[in-house]
Amino acid sequence: METTIPQANDTAESSLRRLEQLQNAFATFQNELRAWAAAKPPFIECELHGTRRALNWTHTLRRSWTDHQFKLVYEPCPKCHAVQTHVVSTQRLRRQGVPENMLHCSLASFVCRTEAHQTALDHAWKLHKRKKGFLLLYGDRGTGKTHLAVGLLREFGEGLFITNDQLLNRLRSSYGQRHGEDIVGLCSETPFLVLDDVGVVAGATDEMLLRHSILTARYRAKLPTVLTSNLSGKALEETLGARIVDRLRECGDRVELRGQSERPRMRQSYLNG
Ligand SMILES: [Zn+2]
Repeated sequence: METTIPQANDTAESSLRRLEQLQNAFATFQNELRAWAAAKPPFIECELHGTRRALNWTHTLRRSWTDHQFKLVYEPCPKCHAVQTHVVSTQRLRRQGVPENMLHCSLASFVCRTEAHQTALDHAWKLHKRKKGFLLLYGDRGTGKTHLAVGLLREFGEGLFITNDQLLNRLRSSYGQRHGEDIVGLCSETPFLVLDDVGVVAGATDEMLLRHSILTARYRAKLPTVLTSNLSGKALEETLGARIVDRLRECGDRVELRGQSERPRMRQSYLNG
């Protein structure tokens, strides 16, 4: 195409002339592309899923004009797109600290076997919608608490997953180091935090302070946070501390999950997967 783009030192008249040339060239290009595309299939099928993918004229025109070459652009296959999105978010979850055996988890794949499961899932979506406050999931081992927490992190995108033990280890390994990792700062400021498996550590005074400091900072900054714990009742309240329990009452939801452990089924999928 022999077109020139108007320059700053052009006179108004020559600028207009060049603009007109450009418009004409674009109109010709568009007509030629349309005639060429009319002979091509208006739909193609996804080779993997058989989904019908329609021609996207706007993108076809844009791509062809930019590349100076006729190119057809079809709508993406929604199923391929979903798989791709899942793969990308799974890679992100790995970087965010989610263990390998929980990387498959999403809110969509969470199966509600009891009413409490449904309540927990509803609260998870609620937290995702309001983007602030706490959600405490507690109760028996293997009832899907971590699954929900990972599913939420997948939805939030930005955030961090850390177990209570990892948090303590990373804090303690930074003791005495002038430029050690600021794990408290990291956990306090991340847009979404999962603190997994809050449990009792006998005689550890730094643990309670650490949790208190992180959760208070997140409470003040109104950042969404999920806590999971296998404890319940008095043991849970004592472990979390009275002030955090108060905060949870004020700005959070708590759901107790009881019932048969999912672990035997998970073991199968782990070994077969
Ligand atoms: Zn597909």
